Amino acid sequence: SAKTIPTIQKAVFFRENGGPEVLKYEDYPVPKIGDNEVLVKNKYAGINFIEAYFRKGIYPSQKPYVLGREASGTIVAKGKNVTKFDVNDNVAYVSPGSMAQYTSVPEKAPIARLPASTTDEQLRLYAASMVQVLTAMTLIRECHPLKKGDFVLLYAAAGGAGLAFDQLLKKAGVRVIAVASTDEKLALAKENGAEFLINGSKDDVLKKVLEITGGEGVSVAYDSVGKDTFDTTLNAVKRKGTIVSFGNASGPVEPVDIYRLTAKNLSLMRPSVIGYISNEEDWKYYSGELVKLIDSGEINVLISKVYPLSEYKTATCELEARKTVGKLLLEIP
Ligand code: NDP
Repeated sequence: SAKTIPTIQKAVFFRENGGPEVLKYEDYPVPKIGDNEVLVKNKYAGINFIEAYFRKGIYPSQKPYVLGREASGTIVAKGKNVTKFDVNDNVAYVSPGSMAQYTSVPEKAPIARLPASTTDEQLRLYAASMVQVLTAMTLIRECHPLKKGDFVLLYAAAGGAGLAFDQLLKKAGVRVIAVASTDEKLALAKENGAEFLINGSKDDVLKKVLEITGGEGVSVAYDSVGKDTFDTTLNAVKRKGTIVSFGNASGPVEPVDIYRLTAKNLSLMRPSVIGYISNEEDWKYYSGELVKLIDSGEINVLISKVYPLSEYKTATCELEARKTVGKLLLEIP
């Protein structure tokens, strides 16, 4: 009941842009919910690379800024216009401000209601899947019509999003050429469905891609590295192919002269997962597919480490230093 909701909580936030040193884990007001919002007591929040972009100022944000984009937990209060959810519902959602004990989430946001019987293990799994698995699901389906046997190029293939891409592309009959920075990461990508492996810190990525594809190139490149890989990617995609540029791990891509796409009739996309799930009809479809994938065990989500909320800074330092594989989670007190 509303009586038991405190006014002060612990949250991870920053007041100015910068390195990990600007991150605070301190007292922060519990958000007041509007008429169309629910208040979620978070149990697990996912860590995503995107938080580093907000912290560094690559993406703009209000200040102070509470980090986090996804979590699972239980609804503890709801606004008077909310009809789809009730207090005590278990949920997992994609919405900002999730690295906190309490988050106000618009009823219209991508929220999946989980059964009352949901276990702690399932709460972890859903918190770990919302952003990264949905990114792989939506970008694979929406960006380019893939056919069985097509070659695709995938960077960061052992990361959180990467492992989901490996598995879902394999399931679609697509031949994944995986790039990662170590042989251990590549072995993990292979276990998850990648067929060809390129060590990006040793190998010439373009040369290898051309060798593997008989000189032709790939149908699609899913490039989340950004600045450092854009030129390689442009050269690695074949005639009528698509560049899906969806991240800036190495920095934002420099402005591109669109005529560079003409020689091979290429498409260039710069999508965000949110743009594919923010509409009600799309969310109905994708949330249904996500629940099927997770509950059937058809997708294996590797949660490589669970940190306490207070340790987010350590976690993101490891993520940004390329020391991690799979998904990192925060457990919320
Ligand atoms: P990951 O777990 O994949 O971690 C990022 C990985 O990027 C690293 O492990 C590293 O893998 C690779 N990388 C390559 N170059 C660098 C660099 N210069 N600095 C740091 N890392 C580098 O993170 P996520 O799964 O959270 O996200 C993966 C990418 O996808 C991110 O770029 C993210 O922003 C993007 N993304 C975009 C979304 C969208 O909607 N547009 C949604 C979700 C994710 P390696 O060592 O093998 O190179």
